[in-house]
Amino acid sequence: MANIFENSFLTLAASTAADDSGLFFQKMDVESSKAVELTGSTADGRPYCIYARRPIHHYLDDDILGSHVTSNWPLITRAWVFQERLLAPRVLHFGKELVWECREASYCECLGASHRLKISHTASLLSSSSDSALHDHWRSLVMEFTWLRLTHENDRLPALSGAAKKFQMQLGSRYLAGLWDDNILEGLLWYAAPERGQEEQRYYTHRPSEWRSPSWSWASVEGPIQYVSNTKAWTSGIEYNAVVIAAECIPASADPTGAILKGHLVMKGNITRALLRHKKSFPDQPSCSYTVTWLAGRRDRVRIGSNFTVNGHDANVDFDLIESGLIKPDSDMEVHCLRLASTQSPLRTFCLDVALLLGA
Ligand SMILES: [Zn+2]
Repeated sequence: MANIFENSFLTLAASTAADDSGLFFQKMDVESSKAVELTGSTADGRPYCIYARRPIHHYLDDDILGSHVTSNWPLITRAWVFQERLLAPRVLHFGKELVWECREASYCECLGASHRLKISHTASLLSSSSDSALHDHWRSLVMEFTWLRLTHENDRLPALSGAAKKFQMQLGSRYLAGLWDDNILEGLLWYAAPERGQEEQRYYTHRPSEWRSPSWSWASVEGPIQYVSNTKAWTSGIEYNAVVIAAECIPASADPTGAILKGHLVMKGNITRALLRHKKSFPDQPSCSYTVTWLAGRRDRVRIGSNFTVNGHDANVDFDLIESGLIKPDSDMEVHCLRLASTQSPLRTFCLDVALLLGA
């Protein structure tokens, strides 16, 4: 399907329809789009007349899965549509107004929209782009993509496969369950960024019901992720403290960027024992609040870096450990942490989350 959209001349998108109700499902009614006349007089007594129109909310500019986007642009929140929108040369969105997207420009009828997803995507894939810029853009795409909804859990990697192939043509790197071989350490620096579900009082980041990817890949969880290197907290540069010795993924089909059968990663670095403690949960608080406390003595701590002190700091877990039965509420478990990377300003350390689940 990716090829069909990529080779299309124009893609018509019923972006505000949740089903097959058609392109004109939410067309703005003529009355509400009419200009309103406002008259009055200035401070020195001169009459004025202003014509105004009600603002149109340009939901395409907003975060992908805000509740207003889900209700107003349901097509856009579907994961398969993400790469179709990226790959298609031209897309005409039908909503309350028409929105045009192509590789060079983006316009809506009121000229108030400013979404630049396709434009920045096209610019990133130019042959003059550096590998570093390509990797930055890939991580941005992954962060957006993981917010989106899939009908079938196993489609997580296949739904981004077409976009991955475009990157692979530029990078010439091996694709490893959503990460790139030539940038794998930075690719590992993701963390689950759960939001509470709208309907249920629980986090919706969780493991898929069937194995889909090794736990070091963002594709191993259902729900949104963030890349720490794409946030402002890491502006001073990243120092890597581990090395990857071997990495391999076996595709489940003939598609090398699609679903995978199995994968593994062999790493070398400093490991320290720690206590992962579940914070006491209150009815109005999320259940996924954890802290990490080192069990190692001062000597061990010095050995892995004199500034490596994160005792009692909040820990990000990939999914709800209580729901999965790995830890009991308000208790703790001994874990092993592998220090992956750190930055000096502000001091932050990132541990490989798969190591956290190894237990004592
Ligand atoms: Zn507009």
